[in-house]
Amino acid sequence: MAILVLPRTLDAAVEKLPDIGPTNAKRLEKLGISTIRDLLLALPFGWQSYGEPTPIASLEEGSPATVVGIVKTINPKQSLRRRIKLTEATIVDDSGSSLRLVWFNMPFVAKQLHKGDRIAVAGAVKLSRYSGLNMQNPHYERLDGVEDMQPARVGGMMPKYHLVDGLSSRRIARWVESALPLAGQLEDLLPVEVRERHHLLDVGDAVRRGHKPDNDEEYREARRRMAFAELFELQAAFALMRANIALEPATPIRYRQEVIEGFKAGLGFELTTAQRKAVWDAYRDMEGTVPMNRLLNGDVGSGKTAVAAACVAMAHASGLQSVVMAPTEILARQHLRRFRAYLEDSFPGLTVELLVSSQSAPERRRVRASAASGHCALVVGTHALIEDEVGFVNLGLAVVDEQHRFGTRQRELLRAKGLGRPHFLAMTATPIPRTLALALYGEMTLSTMDQMPPGRTPVETEVIDPDNRARAYDLVRKEVAAGRQAFVICPLIDESETLAARSATAEFERLQKDVFTDLKLGLIHGRLKDKEQVMQSFVAGEIQVLVATAVVEVGVDVPNATVMMIEGADRFGLAQLHQFRGRVGRGAAQAWCLLLADDPSEAALNRLSLLTRLGDGFKLAEEDMRMRGMGELMGPRQHGMSDVAMASLQQPELLSEVRQEAERILESDPGFENHPLLKAATARRLELTSIS
Ligand code: ADP
Ligand code: MG
Repeated sequence: MAILVLPRTLDAAVEKLPDIGPTNAKRLEKLGISTIRDLLLALPFGWQSYGEPTPIASLEEGSPATVVGIVKTINPKQSLRRRIKLTEATIVDDSGSSLRLVWFNMPFVAKQLHKGDRIAVAGAVKLSRYSGLNMQNPHYERLDGVEDMQPARVGGMMPKYHLVDGLSSRRIARWVESALPLAGQLEDLLPVEVRERHHLLDVGDAVRRGHKPDNDEEYREARRRMAFAELFELQAAFALMRANIALEPATPIRYRQEVIEGFKAGLGFELTTAQRKAVWDAYRDMEGTVPMNRLLNGDVGSGKTAVAAACVAMAHASGLQSVVMAPTEILARQHLRRFRAYLEDSFPGLTVELLVSSQSAPERRRVRASAASGHCALVVGTHALIEDEVGFVNLGLAVVDEQHRFGTRQRELLRAKGLGRPHFLAMTATPIPRTLALALYGEMTLSTMDQMPPGRTPVETEVIDPDNRARAYDLVRKEVAAGRQAFVICPLIDESETLAARSATAEFERLQKDVFTDLKLGLIHGRLKDKEQVMQSFVAGEIQVLVATAVVEVGVDVPNATVMMIEGADRFGLAQLHQFRGRVGRGAAQAWCLLLADDPSEAALNRLSLLTRLGDGFKLAEEDMRMRGMGELMGPRQHGMSDVAMASLQQPELLSEVRQEAERILESDPGFENHPLLKAATARRLELTSIS
């Protein structure tokens, strides 16, 4: 008998478990699993029941089944066209019927199973014209040597874990099994009283039952408990933040009718209903001494800048200065033009200045002096704003655009420039469903802008078969000939910007040499020093086709760009694709978003087709969240939340229960002194959100 030496701590690397080598550890890391604790806490996202073994002759297409048979053939193969490794096999059962099996990207299967082996497989039964009855990526188990020749691990109820290439749910289940004896050591962050009030399992039981439930009910209970705890930790951190914010008063900004009238008169357009609502929300907040802490969650192009400008106007009327911080210089410059256009005519004394690091030293000195003397009412800028030398006389309002690009620390530094605590308005162009926003940004109140200004032509979105890539290039050429511009986005590679930069460079060279020989191409990626300069030349029209990695995501306006061509579209998340699409269609002309995917899975194709049908970012985000909840998300994670917790948000009442509990605990124990685990966890959360 093998002696199993278990590592003693939950914090040990997963590699310390038997049978996990460095390769598997790397694969698990892609799923966010590095320690044994992580492995235990990552519950399966679902279960599949495969039932008792069935004769092949009575299999039904489309339903999951378990089959026992003898391996007749098994061959590893390399698919040339699709560049993937296949393992093909045939099994024959006692009745003499045969079933074909195929595994994708799991070459180890051919080493583990051999001709003549008696095996059990479990999977969905498919019927195809060429290969008859078959199963793809079935679970499998060798039965030779198994006492009663009955499958022990395959068939019946089987967990479904999130996977990356090279992993199978069954292997993960085996590793989890070897780690489960340590489940008793997991610390429970949920106070006993909360657990009792909501009939929640303790963490050890939840982990054991979540990975190996006896029935559906047990699994659901386990998930509910894990989701509750995760949301509770977040909400407790938010409750703490809200309490801290309320400690430091802001200067109230009195509402003045004539200011908003004047503001509206100076705009070249009517505010949309969503914009008006957001403005009123903010005005109401700013009238109080508890500082406003509001998140403007709006779709790309919904007109958030105008809402911020309305707030600046009101602050100015109360004699208070404002600041607007954006993540890039191009955005800051775009804001400068917009805020001036929106404000300077109606409010002649309202001076708007720019502060960015590329300005000359004397220019920056001049702007700083203007801010410090109280002469200028609004300074728009980048990170340069949070430098020590920048000061204000009476900063009453701080606005941060694309807030997810900044960390809490940077936002705090900006706030610290205020008189007391300034009112705070954060803007994000990543639409998120309301419940998710409340769960993720619970320290803020929320205004949702799910309406577009009138007169936009919807972007035509199409999934293009890679064999028809030439058609996409033709469209680019045609548009450029008509004086327009285009983006070509390169695939995301393992979330590494270095690799992405290399592949974008290669694609840029290829396009220039072989495809768009006569066009002016530009290249932009995260490793480039002069990103801003490249963007500027694109804005100026000197570059006709911009080859880019995901760095172009942030809200730059190039109204002349009409084609967004995305390579490897299946590798991006829906939200990110929607962001890319938002970069075009900003002018009146028809614009296109072309999605190319080399070898998309069925789930990926479904997601892409959603994009062709839905133009509304909020609807897309809801779909994304729903699919993720069902474990179908592909592409990178957008938010720091597990799928189990995300799925639980489908029942909105859970979140409000969690919130109440977090507030109740904080009230009875300010600072969580009597709840050390919670205290440590919330501190970690707060710190985590401050690193960016
Ligand atoms: P966001 O930052 O929310 O993506 P912007 O504030 O950049 O959107 O606005 C996008 C464009 O729409 C800008 O050119 C802006 O001037 C214009 N715009 C904003 N609100 C309206 C409106 N109510 N009617 C018409 N155009 C508007
Ligand atoms: Mg914007």
